Amino acid sequence: MINVKNLHKSFGKVDILKGMDVEIQKGEVVVVIGPSGSGKSTFLRCLNLLEEPTSGEIMFEGKNITAKNHNINETREKMGMVFQQFNLFPHKSVLENITLAPIQVQGMSSAEAEAIADELLTTVGLLDKKGAYPSQLSGGQKQRIAIARALAMRPHVMLFDEPTSALDPEMVGEVLEVMKKLAMNGMTMVIVTHEMGFAREVGDRILFIDQGSIAEEGTPEQIFTQAKHPRTREFLSKVL
Ligand code: ADP
Ligand code: MG
Repeated sequence: MINVKNLHKSFGKVDILKGMDVEIQKGEVVVVIGPSGSGKSTFLRCLNLLEEPTSGEIMFEGKNITAKNHNINETREKMGMVFQQFNLFPHKSVLENITLAPIQVQGMSSAEAEAIADELLTTVGLLDKKGAYPSQLSGGQKQRIAIARALAMRPHVMLFDEPTSALDPEMVGEVLEVMKKLAMNGMTMVIVTHEMGFAREVGDRILFIDQGSIAEEGTPEQIFTQAKHPRTREFLSKVL
């Protein structure tokens, strides 16, 4: 579904991503781990073109999305993204947060968008919060709404950038549960997280990023029990 070849990203003169090659299959759950500042967010943001790669190629569903003439909006609609800081629209209700893009971007009727919102609110267990405003929700609830909002565009892949890092510990589980449900329903997902238990349980493959390149990748079993690279082992010894 996604094929990244020799991806480089620099900010000014600083090389942040130093040639990444990654293939992601349809239905795969890829978990990205690595030290702070190693380029995990930059990698995710390059995938959906929130950042413009400096060089390299990203193929998505057979199309070169890094080609000059590519329509970025078309790609973004197919890639849902969830951030650490929810980014809900504060002055819109939960329902409006979820239906805004389908109505404005995809031209869906409000009745149709609301029907989809109901379905997604049921999936994330928050149908009763349909009329609430973000300020009335807990962090865990906000993040579940942010996930529902991303899903409302019917994305083909979901990108998560540390979705539980801003949450109080007791709310982490409810968000991971929703993500696990998506994974079990076959959603293709790329997830940056420090939740190693989740990575191990739900990930099909782990990428360990260090200093802007993939230092090691493998199944959770391989990475967590027989990591080869000293930097992977060092990182895991700190977070496990
Ligand atoms: P991670 O998500 O792994 O913590 P990031 O991808 O956020 O790492 O950042 C990798 C490096 O790139 C950091 O050194 C960060 O300061 C730098 N960086 C990220 N975004 C920008 C930017 N817009 N301009 C300049 N430097 C950036
Ligand atoms: Mg980051």
